[in-house]
Amino acid sequence: MTTHHPVELKAPDISRFARGTNGVPYVHTFDSGKPGPHVMVNALTHGNEICGAIALETIFSLGLKPKQGKLSLVFVNVGAFKRFDPAKPNGSRYVDEDFNRVWVESRLDGPEKSAELTRARELRPVFDQADYLLDIHSMGTPSAPLMIVHGLDKERRLARQVAVPPWIVAGQGHIQGKRLIEYTPFNDRSNAKTAILVECGQHWEANAAKVALDTTLRFLAATGAIDEATMMAHVHVKSPKPQTMVDVSGGYTAKTDRFKFVKDFTGLEHFAKAGSPIAQDGDETVTTPHDDCYLVMPNHGAKKGDRALRFAKPSD
Ligand SMILES: [Zn+2]
Repeated sequence: MTTHHPVELKAPDISRFARGTNGVPYVHTFDSGKPGPHVMVNALTHGNEICGAIALETIFSLGLKPKQGKLSLVFVNVGAFKRFDPAKPNGSRYVDEDFNRVWVESRLDGPEKSAELTRARELRPVFDQADYLLDIHSMGTPSAPLMIVHGLDKERRLARQVAVPPWIVAGQGHIQGKRLIEYTPFNDRSNAKTAILVECGQHWEANAAKVALDTTLRFLAATGAIDEATMMAHVHVKSPKPQTMVDVSGGYTAKTDRFKFVKDFTGLEHFAKAGSPIAQDGDETVTTPHDDCYLVMPNHGAKKGDRALRFAKPSD
């Protein structure tokens, strides 16, 4: 019934990582024995976003170890990923609920049960140890890759230091729940713990795995876990383009099941004038709310009540 984008990537066999190093399945921590930050990289926060798993597998196979502090590599929602089927690649985003919406203390500490809450409770002490976290994702639409930050200065700084991808989008994420990057210990101006999220492109396009690996390597170099020379030896793109940072200025939630964009937008299109038509939602026309407006992450499958798009304005 549903069509989907071509699946160019092959989901890796990660069963050999099941054991983990500290008793938590699919969590591997390497300790340099020297002082320094605990740097962490997540793949598979969403089970169908396989580019991150491919990047982590490469980091393992390169044998990269931290030169200072600790490095943890985490395969997050393995329960969902195990259901990944290239014939139905949209089917494995999560088991019971979105792992990237549960990061609210009342839910984590509460009595509710779901496959994702169970895994979140298991991983919470791991994330509590992170000084710097990169959470690897990909998108439903073939959009240019982008880094997402909640908006704190420490996040903006780290996203700039990582230097890829060329787009940084700052702003609040979702209508409901909290993303992992918004989990309280990270979303705190008074400490240095910093979490950022990269969207590597369309979920299954071959380039997404390259973006995931390059971003991981540059993140590891920016946080001091590996040196520049090691990073440069393995990245696909040796000289990244200058970055543009935009701030989310608002979002739009579909009011009907007849939401449709006026064009096949992929995201990051720019509209000079307020009032430019973007979509049709039932009988209503959705237009840009202000001048100098970017369209971010259009959701072509949006049904009534779904976030259909975000708008953004230049940050500087
Ligand atoms: Zn995701």
